[in-house]
Amino acid sequence: MTLSLAATALGLAAALAYLFRCWAFPYGRCWWCRSDGRNAAGYCNACHGTGRRVRLGRRLYDAARREYRDGTK
Ligand SMILES: [Zn+2]
Repeated sequence: MTLSLAATALGLAAALAYLFRCWAFPYGRCWWCRSDGRNAAGYCNACHGTGRRVRLGRRLYDAARREYRDGTK
């Protein structure tokens, strides 16, 4: 019982830390080109040559915020 409670708290803490990182540092490394903006074909389309991509969590956050804003107009 105590162990599962600790695991839940740990998972919650990890999720919060991830959300905070998405909020504070919205850009992550591009994993298609390993953040150098170029891939085998030359130009990396995944990050448009910047080597940085918006994190998934940040996209979810932005999508949620957009939904909220559109819903409360
Ligand atoms: Zn890239």
